[in-house]
Amino acid sequence: MDISVVIPLYNEEESLPELFAWIQRVMDKNGFSYEVIFVNDGSTDRSWQVIEELAAKHEEAKGIKFRRNYGKSPALFCGFEKAQGDVVITMDADLQDSPDEIPELYRMIKKDGYDLVSGYKKKRYDPLSKTLPTKLFNATARAVSGIKNLHDFNCGLKAYRKDVIKNIEVYGEMHRYIPYLAKNAGFGKIGEKVVHHQARKYGVTKFGLNRFVNGYLDLISLWFLSKFGVKPMHIFGFLGSLMFIFGFLAVVGVGVHKLYAMYSGQPYILVTDSPYFYLALTTMILGTQLFLAGFLGEMIARNSTERNKYQVEKELF
Ligand code: UDP
Ligand code: MG
Repeated sequence: MDISVVIPLYNEEESLPELFAWIQRVMDKNGFSYEVIFVNDGSTDRSWQVIEELAAKHEEAKGIKFRRNYGKSPALFCGFEKAQGDVVITMDADLQDSPDEIPELYRMIKKDGYDLVSGYKKKRYDPLSKTLPTKLFNATARAVSGIKNLHDFNCGLKAYRKDVIKNIEVYGEMHRYIPYLAKNAGFGKIGEKVVHHQARKYGVTKFGLNRFVNGYLDLISLWFLSKFGVKPMHIFGFLGSLMFIFGFLAVVGVGVHKLYAMYSGQPYILVTDSPYFYLALTTMILGTQLFLAGFLGEMIARNSTERNKYQVEKELF
């Protein structure tokens, strides 16, 4: 099979028939063999009935139904597990992404050899309250992930080589950072294609402004995991030791200062009357705590199923 289209959706009943017909049109025109996997993320409207009707009429239409709403990432995860196509395309169900982009995305993966091609909604039809923070968000994501050429990490329209989606694990709300996940898994050829974007035709957006707060926290987590996920001691141990040594030297300094004052007959105060004493003490305690966090982290990492998971591309025996 050439292409799997994975579509996560939550209460998008009006869009689905139109979207499927459009995908069908594009696929038939280009002679692709394909499947469309609708992942119904616990919709409370008629979305599932619509999917059932489509699946009954067309063998290309397939569906997964969650019992409740889990979020976009879990929906993508389950869609990816089932996908069979050589190239896997994800798109939103709200008709904001255009299926007309599919042939070119397919070509970029197949002919240009990209592992992942992300859409870039250069001209967006979204409210300013969304486009402005998005710019900031993408700049941060570029800096942290080191993927310098992406302008739109969270674009719903993306294409992947099958290997990529079978070897990464999207979870939580990490759908915003799939290129980063791919890069961490060793899929380095990541490209971008400017895509057309439309205003939402039916329904409402499913994400509020808290997407930006959560987005940043997730980015920090991913960065941390990719840097120190299997060797937490390297960060906590380092910071802890640094703080402890710093605090220790400061305590010695406070003591020496007092002894010097005593023996040279100058006026002196109790060590416990000096603010530096308390600062030094706190630093030492925090340093010890950080070090302990490192040990605990190592014990957790030792038990992790991820600790010896590597991306083996090829083997010769
Ligand atoms: N979505 C989902 N589960 C959720 C929230 C959203 O499957 O919990 C789907 C939604 O139906 C749509 C896509 O994710 O197909 C993107 O959502 P939306 O269009 O609301 O996001 P926006 O375009 O505002 O970023
Ligand atoms: Mg949308």
